[in-house]
This record gives sequence, structure tokens and C-alpha cells, in this order.
Amino acid sequence: MDRKVRVRFAPSPTGPLHIGGVRTALYNYLFARRNGGDMILRIEDTDSNRFVPGAEEYINEALAWLGIGIDEGVREGGKYGPYKQSERRDIYRDHVKRLLDSGRAYIAFDTPEELEAARTATPNFQYDATTRLRMRNSLSMPADEVEKLIEAGTPYVVRFRIEPGRDVEVNDLLRGKVTINSSILDDKVLYKSADDLPTYHLANIVDDHLMEISHVIRGEEWLPSAPLHVLLYEAFGWEETRPEFVHLPLLLKPDGKGKLSKRDGDRLGFPVFPLEWHDPKTGAISTGYRESGYLPEAVINFLALLGWNPGDDTEIMSMDELIQKFSFDHCSRSGAKFAFDKGRWFNHEYIQSTPDCELATLFRPVLKSKGVNPDDFSDDYITRVVALVKGRVNFVAELWDQAGFFFVAPKNYAEKDIKKRWKEDTPAILNELTKVLASLPDFNSKTAEPIVLDWVAQNGYHLGNVMNAFRLTLVGECKGPHIFDITEMIGRDETIRRINEGIDNISLPG
Ligand code: GLU
Repeated sequence: MDRKVRVRFAPSPTGPLHIGGVRTALYNYLFARRNGGDMILRIEDTDSNRFVPGAEEYINEALAWLGIGIDEGVREGGKYGPYKQSERRDIYRDHVKRLLDSGRAYIAFDTPEELEAARTATPNFQYDATTRLRMRNSLSMPADEVEKLIEAGTPYVVRFRIEPGRDVEVNDLLRGKVTINSSILDDKVLYKSADDLPTYHLANIVDDHLMEISHVIRGEEWLPSAPLHVLLYEAFGWEETRPEFVHLPLLLKPDGKGKLSKRDGDRLGFPVFPLEWHDPKTGAISTGYRESGYLPEAVINFLALLGWNPGDDTEIMSMDELIQKFSFDHCSRSGAKFAFDKGRWFNHEYIQSTPDCELATLFRPVLKSKGVNPDDFSDDYITRVVALVKGRVNFVAELWDQAGFFFVAPKNYAEKDIKKRWKEDTPAILNELTKVLASLPDFNSKTAEPIVLDWVAQNGYHLGNVMNAFRLTLVGECKGPHIFDITEMIGRDETIRRINEGIDNISLPG
């Protein structure tokens, strides 16, 4: 059947979006865009006990940062709205009534204590065809009693009446056909009168149907719900338009042993959330990819390849390229190891291809956090600094470690470099060097370099010692880009000032 591709990302606002959820959103988005379809963001907030303030805003902000565009949603609007389940109570109530009227669902009054007692009395108790007539529900009780209880406002739930002994076929585009027997399913709760809200299962499939979703693309953890969903579609008579299922493989710990968790991130030093998250209850802060200095394009590229490949070994792909190449044919069925080192590598690569002036803009707040007023430096200066050092960094914040000395003179000098390079005659030679530098016709790298090298050679000085001592006074240690690029950037006066400061402050190693 040819139908318009419509997919949804359907998070529950129960906390920060996990990186695995971001991948699910991304695959939905790529699939929608590849097929000229629609991407819907539906907020599944029917579990009021697990609602966390700020989680919905977090989801919106994270998707926007990553460039995962939404066509229909709470903020975007659309003709299938509302897109927040707590605003769709009437719709669910109607649908629950339809199932009750057709006998596919029933009302149950069992209290938590009664259910607990049943569990204690019967090992492996399951509320199903074998037990339901022993419980307190509209199948086991006279109709007028049921009526009375409802009128009296007794809390009840509506359960799905599962017919036992049927083979239920779930077709998954990645996994193929899986058949399970309906006898292993329990009569799932679909609705609770106490809060007048449906459970996940009912709301999820009613909305997928009404929103004309063509493909349900979600994490593997939802696979066990799929048979029940198939039966619900059938109970409503919606088999013809049932969406295709795609259950994405889990994201695994970096060593491949088990499901990726927040603790792995804490232990190994990588974020598992797209953005920083401030837990409203505990006040705990969890780091995010954005705040850790990742570029959104790098995160997207990295995540896209966790469970999918383009069919060849191309690694660097923009969002547009990912869209062009994406299909489920090259999705893996087994879990994807969360190779966070690869994430760093992607970020390094994306930093190299980001224009220097853009990196300069991102670097300004880092400078500020280090006590440097970025407005003291021109855009051009910061951009040129970035160009000199970006090859050495994986993250924007690391630009500071590589380039701080372009903004502030060193206050300390590395002991080990002093030991190696600072000799008895160093102060005198450097003093002489300041004279050479002062007399240069201009201070370009190209002019300065041959003249200084010539001066070293003519005097028979040790090139390595002189140049490294020189560098030590400028940088504070023996690292950094080409020395004459540094001198050109910081200028003649500052170069000479730093050499003199070094001469004054560095003492011969003892
Ligand atoms: N609300 C579910 C979640 O939090 C949606 C699962 C689905 O996509 O069906 O992931």
C-alpha cells in the first residue's frame, strides 16, 4: 500500500532526553526527509506520576540545537493536533468506550491490595483469560453492581480483553516476522478512571492511527509491546492502516556489555544527554554534549552511524547527505556499541571544517570564562589564532589550552623545559635577540625568521636551546605553533616585553 510517510517521535517528558532517544528522533527525521514525509513530535504525558517539569522544553531545545526539524507538534501546530496527550482526553475516552461497547475491553475494580493478594496466592499470577473471572470486574460481576460502583465513584480501570491461544504476528522492517502466542499476554490496563487518563498503550496506538502514522520507529525496548499493539489495532478494526514497525537496536556500553547508562558516561567521562540537565528535584547537574563543546553536526553524524551505515565506509556526512543515503536496509539489528572516542574524533573533524570565524565566535565565551575580555581583541585576531591551533583540538574549549598565551603573557614557566633549555648564557643571548628583533625592518613571520636564524648561525649558538628558550618566554612552555607565527601575532613590543620578563623571572635550574 502506498501511503504518505508520516513518522512521529513520541517522548514522555519524564526527564532529560537520553542520547538513545536522540538517535531515535534522528532516524525518524532522516526517514521522513528521505521519503518526502512528515515528522511529528508528540508529547506522551499520560503518566502524571512520572511527569518532570522542564522536560518538554528540554526536548524542544535539544532537537532544535541538533537541527532535527519538526513539521507538526505542540509548538508547530498541525491539523492532527493537539500533539500533547494530556490534551486529548476526550478522544481517548471515546475510544475506550468503543472497546467497552464491542466487548473488547472490560471494567475492573480490583484494588492494589486485592491484586497483591492474587499475586501472593498464585505464583506467576497474570490477569488474563485464566484468572479474570476470579477477579472483580464487569465480566465476573452482575451488571447492576458494576453500574452502582461506577455511580458511587469507585475507582476502576479498563482492561483489554485478550483472547488466549492466538498467534499474533508482528512484522518489523528490521527483524522480519516475529510470532508470539496471545496466551502469554496479560489483560493490559488501557485507562484509569482515577486520573481520567489512558495508559501508554491505548494513547499511543489511538494517536498513531488518528495522526495517520505510516511507520513507528522506536527503540527496541518497545518491541515487547508490539503484539499488544497489533491486537489493539485489530480490536478497533484498523488493521489496514496499521503502521509498519521498526524497532531500533539498543545503544550498548562502550565495551558492548549491556545497555548504555548514565553511569557509564560518568565513569568514562562522556555525556549521555544532548544538553546539560538540571534535575528539578535533586538539583543535580548532568553534562550535555552542547556544554561539553560538541558541535551539533558532529553529534548528528556520530549518532547516525550508531546502528546504520551508508553501505560503504563513508564516515563524514552532513545532515543533507545522511538524508540522501538513509534507509533501513543498512540498519543493524544488533546493539551498537557507544564508541565515545569516535564521537570525539567526529568533533575534531567538524572543528577542522568549521570556518575559523565561526570558531572564533564560539571561542569568545571561553576567553571570557578565563578572565580575558574578548572585546580587547579584534575578530580578525581571534580568527587568526584559531586558524593556527585548531588542528590540535577536539573541542572549542581546548583552544584555550593551545592558545591562551596569545591573549595573556605566561605567568609561570614549565620547570622541565627550563631544566632542558635554560643555560648560563641564555639571558645574554636572549638579550641580544631583543636587539635583533628591534632592528627588523618589519615584524612579519617571513621577514623575521631568516634574519633570526642567520643571527643564530653566525654566532654559532645552539639552535635548539636558543629557540626553545625564546619560546619559553613567549608561551611559558615549549609547545605551540610555529614561533614566528606567534611573534607576528602578538607583535614586536609584546614579544620583546615577554623575552625581558622571562630573563628577569626565569632562574637557572639548580
Ligand atoms: N512514549 C514512549 C517513549 O517514551 C513512546 C514509545 C513509542 O515510540 O511508541 O519512548
